[in-house]
Amino acid sequence: MRRRAYILPMKHAFELTSFRLIGLLPALLAVAACSANPATGKQSFTGFMSPAKELQVGAEEHPKMVKQFGGQFDDQDWPKYVREIGQELASYSEMPELPWTFTVLNDTQVNAFALPGGYVYITRGLLALASDEAEMAGVLSHEIGHVTARHTAQRYSSTMATNLGLQVLGVLSNAAGVPGAENIAAVGANLALKSYSRDQELESDMLGVRYMTRAGYDPDAMASFSRNCGRTNASKV
Ligand SMILES: [Zn+2]
Repeated sequence: MRRRAYILPMKHAFELTSFRLIGLLPALLAVAACSANPATGKQSFTGFMSPAKELQVGAEEHPKMVKQFGGQFDDQDWPKYVREIGQELASYSEMPELPWTFTVLNDTQVNAFALPGGYVYITRGLLALASDEAEMAGVLSHEIGHVTARHTAQRYSSTMATNLGLQVLGVLSNAAGVPGAENIAAVGANLALKSYSRDQELESDMLGVRYMTRAGYDPDAMASFSRNCGRTNASKV
């Protein structure tokens, strides 16, 4: 059987290099990577942010979040209480092995959010508004859902793909002055705090109800807390 190594003709090799497409190839290949999320069971595109990258982003952003939102609430009991409830809920998720970190922020605004890699935050203002443990568990479960559904990785990856697409168009129309792929990373750097889509919020609610139910809480507490928030005019407590 005849075999022959394929050799790219020199002229073409030069052209490819001159268009700097080679540098973009790993990113282009990543675009094709779609994987099923273990929590939602859906195919989602997270090719630009691996689970390892999520851990790295979370660890890097964590101290900044704590600082930005009033520092950690240094009461003796509340942080421990929230951590224990959070860890239990996370143990019922599809990612129990993540190094989950639950932080109570010393902020009177009613707020909760999550960073990729298992970082969940709840303000003391929210703790004051929650009627009982089940309502607090509902908020934590919803935030755990954002992490397990990998919503930040989805948003980051779709933004990167859009930017990359624009760059490739730039390459095709104008070979000179093409910015390197490393510049794209800066675009996605502040995505962690941008709001989620409505579909992602609904997905987190669905996952939150699942984790609450598994942990033995009444899942209606998630809805009752939302109603409670809607009734309460004061965002500061
Ligand atoms: Zn949410």
